[in-house]
Amino acid sequence: MVVVMMPGVETEAVDAVVTRVEAVGGQAFVSRGVSRVIIGLIGDVETFSALDLAGMPGVAQVTRVSTEYKLVSREHHPERSVVHVRGVPIGPDTVTLIAGPCAVETPEQTLAAAQMAQAAGATMLRGGAFKPRTSPYAFQGLGEQGLRILADVRQETGLPIVTEVVSAHEVAMVAEYADMLQIGTRNMQNFALLQAIGETRVPVMLKRGMNSTIQEWLMAAEYIAQRGNLEIVLCERGIRTFETATRNTLDVSAVPVVQQLSHLPVIIDPSHSGGRRELVLPLSRAAIVAGADGIIVDVHPQPEQALCDGAQALVAKDLGVLARAVTDLTAYMGRSPARRRYRSAG
Ligand code: PEP
Ligand code: MN
Repeated sequence: MVVVMMPGVETEAVDAVVTRVEAVGGQAFVSRGVSRVIIGLIGDVETFSALDLAGMPGVAQVTRVSTEYKLVSREHHPERSVVHVRGVPIGPDTVTLIAGPCAVETPEQTLAAAQMAQAAGATMLRGGAFKPRTSPYAFQGLGEQGLRILADVRQETGLPIVTEVVSAHEVAMVAEYADMLQIGTRNMQNFALLQAIGETRVPVMLKRGMNSTIQEWLMAAEYIAQRGNLEIVLCERGIRTFETATRNTLDVSAVPVVQQLSHLPVIIDPSHSGGRRELVLPLSRAAIVAGADGIIVDVHPQPEQALCDGAQALVAKDLGVLARAVTDLTAYMGRSPARRRYRSAG
């Protein structure tokens, strides 16, 4: 069961609900978002129904939610959500193109990639400063120096930044630079990281674990929401199957399935799923037509020299073709390309 409190509710009203639930042996998890307080109840639903929680001061709505994930479920929130990243919407009416290098390598490379992305109509920049690599000998990213480069490129281009954070103790530092935090596939069930990001109010892109079911993915999102951060975008980036012809298998059916189960936006990463440049265009087309709320693609000015994932990075000429496909298919789906709606300071 989920109790949604009225906007601007007093702490006493929230405490009163918690006390009443606990008095009958239930547990109440308070999630304080930017605009509302939501209380997730765990325990016997019939007992809760007898408490007349809906009649208590400050309570706006009480809903029964049968799924294990509650706050991210569509049962609790039938309208599909829009997440705004510095004024760029990600949600059901738009298709958001996010592009940039896999890894931040140098200021010149990052700026060139950002300009390529922007010329193709991207309204957000991706780029990893902390790279979770399979090999300890591979390039691990520039760390905070990479974040500073991203911030400079944001200043130059106006593109908001999404960048990965790999450990709970670095969340506050990365959040000082990022407009959106990225949780990579290898960290989808790093529960301490999920909770630390849940404590912030920074939008987050949660990639699907390459070995995770949709249920596990939504439970991971619930960890973030339960701590009060509801600004979550899900990203399908391919899963492990027996197939070896692609880096991972893009589970395009995850888009409609997740949209049925959850109100959160869902985007697709065709670069990390296909793992090869020539697959990015067809997988992007599939993503948009399947109803994805956006795509996130790797681009690089000189992929042959990339320190990470060069084989899947688009070059300028591919981007022109991608841009046209995104424009045409976005219109075909009755949506508009996501544009930044306002400029914020900093
Ligand atoms: C990335 O986007 O750079 C990345 C490492 O992706 P994933 O976590 O999906 O492998
Ligand atoms: Mn990568």
